[in-house]
Amino acid sequence: MIKLSERVGAISGSPTLKLVQIKNQLQAKGLKIFDFGAGEPDFPTPEHIKNAGITAIQKNFTKYTSTSGIVDLKKAIRENYLKEQGFAPEDTEIIVSPGSKFGMFLLLQAAVDPGEEVILPLPYWVSYPEIAKFGNARIVHADHISGAELFELTADSYIARYSPLTKVVVVNSPSNPTGKIMNAAELAKLVRFFYQKSVLTVIDDCYRKIMYSTEPYPSPFALVPEARDCLAVVSSLSKTYSMTGWRLGYTIAPQSLCAAMTKIQEHSTSNASSITQKAAVAALNGPEDEIIAMVSEYRQRRDTIARRFDKIGNIRYRLPDGAFYFFADFGHFIRKKGKRNDQEFAMDILEKLNVIVVPGSAFGAPNYLRISFATAMADIEAGLDLLEKYLLTP
Ligand code: PLP
Repeated sequence: MIKLSERVGAISGSPTLKLVQIKNQLQAKGLKIFDFGAGEPDFPTPEHIKNAGITAIQKNFTKYTSTSGIVDLKKAIRENYLKEQGFAPEDTEIIVSPGSKFGMFLLLQAAVDPGEEVILPLPYWVSYPEIAKFGNARIVHADHISGAELFELTADSYIARYSPLTKVVVVNSPSNPTGKIMNAAELAKLVRFFYQKSVLTVIDDCYRKIMYSTEPYPSPFALVPEARDCLAVVSSLSKTYSMTGWRLGYTIAPQSLCAAMTKIQEHSTSNASSITQKAAVAALNGPEDEIIAMVSEYRQRRDTIARRFDKIGNIRYRLPDGAFYFFADFGHFIRKKGKRNDQEFAMDILEKLNVIVVPGSAFGAPNYLRISFATAMADIEAGLDLLEKYLLTP
């Protein structure tokens, strides 16, 4: 038996991707599954984006590209950020990767030495701690659970965790799993503080266009322009354009960091798929009406779930402002059902109801469940009927 590296021994598999496997196995047995576990949109990729991919293949755009991304995609990213956020990154400040998960991986490997600290949100997206551990970083959490206002993304929650070892701060807004957005005043305060400490602030904005509030999404670069050398944005086309399988993410970062990330990408995955990059240009330059329609559908689903939770009672939650997840405290029902923890509770729900939910401990928050509404309204209603009956049965 080959002895595995200590590095890989320190990390765990993705609990959310494991659920995808379980779902596939159950569906293969012919069972009807109500999937509140999904971390991806249930809509197809819009037609004009698919056609751009097909055209790329037909025109033989099927070879290696420049590692950090093709020029017309970088142009589309620049124009998008200029239009929506008032700043225009140079080509040398953009790296396109096969998914933003890999973008985050590259960034933390390129920026953080073993023993240096990374401040992550709590609750967190499942991959942040594992990526940080892979680089032997020390993990510190900005607590968004115990504060006076549940899940509120405040600057102080991060500032309180600053130490001379802090190297990177990760803000995920809108957040997976809570759907909360950091408002402009808090973001400006956070970026300004960490800029003065020469700490890199990374904003994961991959749900940026899936928002339910009318406030514009705050731009860190426009709020604190002088901090540009200490700012990075990790972003993705996966969620907004329903392109999870195409694998396309990008990072906007200071030039030297971008070059370092490109070096790692050059010797690992090389460029993101050439075909996907052409489809991404069509996505970013194309019409947004389908995105608007998707967001409007998500909103209706969100409001339906909130109404149903209120009817059931004893479920503590905050209405998500973005993304497509509820993160709700089911502690009352975990105790009522005599379960030892959220994992046992989620498994009971799966076994008894064929309903998939994600245990909160995957996000660092025991007693919570993440309920995704990237699932059809009819399934939401039917799945909640089952859940309601289960929860309210003594
Ligand atoms: N960041 C957050 C907060 C996410 O929820 C996800 C996916 O679930 C990602 C990044 C990664 O997305 P992708 O690698 O598909 O771009």
